[in-house]
Amino acid sequence: MNLVTEQGALNHVTPEQAEQTVWGVVVVGGGMVGAAMALGLGRQGFNVLLLEREAVNTDWNPQQLYQTRVSALTRASENILRNLGAWQGIERRRYHPFVAMHVWDEVTPGEVHFSAEDMGEPNLGYTVENSVVQAALWEQIAQCEQIKVLLDVKLEKLGRENEQACLFLEGYGKIRTNLVIGADGANSQVRQMANIGLDIHEYEQCAVVGCVKTELSHQDTCWQRYLKDGPFAYLAMGENISSIAWYLPIEKMQWALSLSDAEFAEQLGIASDWKLGRVVEVAERAAFPLVRRHAEHYVKPNLALIGDAAHTIHPQAGQGVNLGLLDAAALIEVLAEARDTGRDLGQFSVLRRYERWRRGDNAIVQRSMEGFDWMFKQDAALKSVFRKGFLPVANRLTPVKNWLMGQALNGREALPKLAK
Ligand SMILES: Cc1cc2nc3c(=O)[nH]c(=O)nc-3n(C[C@H](O)[C@H](O)[C@H](O)COP(=O)(O)OP(=O)(O)OC[C@H]3O[C@@H](n4cnc5c(N)ncnc54)[C@H](O)[C@@H]3O)c2cc1C
Repeated sequence: MNLVTEQGALNHVTPEQAEQTVWGVVVVGGGMVGAAMALGLGRQGFNVLLLEREAVNTDWNPQQLYQTRVSALTRASENILRNLGAWQGIERRRYHPFVAMHVWDEVTPGEVHFSAEDMGEPNLGYTVENSVVQAALWEQIAQCEQIKVLLDVKLEKLGRENEQACLFLEGYGKIRTNLVIGADGANSQVRQMANIGLDIHEYEQCAVVGCVKTELSHQDTCWQRYLKDGPFAYLAMGENISSIAWYLPIEKMQWALSLSDAEFAEQLGIASDWKLGRVVEVAERAAFPLVRRHAEHYVKPNLALIGDAAHTIHPQAGQGVNLGLLDAAALIEVLAEARDTGRDLGQFSVLRRYERWRRGDNAIVQRSMEGFDWMFKQDAALKSVFRKGFLPVANRLTPVKNWLMGQALNGREALPKLAK
């Protein structure tokens, strides 16, 4: 049964019904981050309205093809999803733990190998299709009475009256709430309607993604090779199935999409230096131009931004949704504490606590990706010297390696309770 598209099965409300209540919180966007946010607040007893413009499919067929959009989830994200009760839904569907990461370079002979065993951990994380994470969260939302869902509506504008936020929907009246949370992705309408500026940097690169079958086993390892054009990665997904992330200059995007399957498979073999042998099958592929975005503010009175609505990052270290889930977990904690001490959820000083907690951390991760990218992207003399020294040395420096892996596995300090 598809809980989500069957009206009534999911605590659906109509726009007219939604107008009758003053909501504690309205979450706009039910992607992985918005759905986690709504569920966390619902579990804390908040009165939540979740607005999503597209129907979400919770049906599951084990034979279904691997999706193009995949995320590598950290331990902190696993904990958040477990604590929200959504992890079982992921386990019931499809996911893959990876136990090692292997990084090597086109220019130098150096290689770095990180393994879960060295860290005393069962694995280094999980690769999961985005649609699986979203479906597992929505399945829980369907069972949480505190959350009502409004699908298929268009946001027209935002306003503020009497210390409350108002959302105006196309063709309907207004919805009132103490707090609007924008979780509506990179092109967030909530962010634009709230006139929150954006710091943007175009990487002039694209990521080509999709799942492929390889001749050799991936050995439950994520493989990343640095090439002149950008990195290439295989993320372990299933038996001899890996998700690829192939970073190319933006002008090569159309070329990569226009290759025949056989040509594409050949190019992947070359990019990976045949590490997993030949690519024997390719599924649907997609390509995304890569842009770093950072909202100038995450909060305003009665409004907060989380996930891609607040920040996007170069995906090479697979941090985007992991940072978004940490935003959600931090904001849930801040709002629960405010409620327990009798404070108004929409109060600027309450929301600022969330912004101070998350914005600096997200900026550090965004910038560290750039440093790494800079080092490997070009072949100019100075960079080349630096790069030639880095991999062989990094592989021998166990404390450095362990620190890097600790960061990748758990995120930075000051984890929200839900992430522990
Ligand atoms: C190539 C690539 C690879 C990546 N790999 C990784 C990885 O390995 N690990 C990782 O952590 N991250 C990765 N990311 C980043 C990750 O995909 C994003 O950070 C994540 O999807 C953001 O989730 P979100 O819920 O914030 O936004 P979205 O996934 O964009 O969800 C937004 C939701 O809001 C809804 N919506 C939008 N506008 C409205 C509206 N006006 N009204 C109602 N609903 C609306 C949309 O329908 C959607 O459901 C990758 C990104 C790319 C491009």
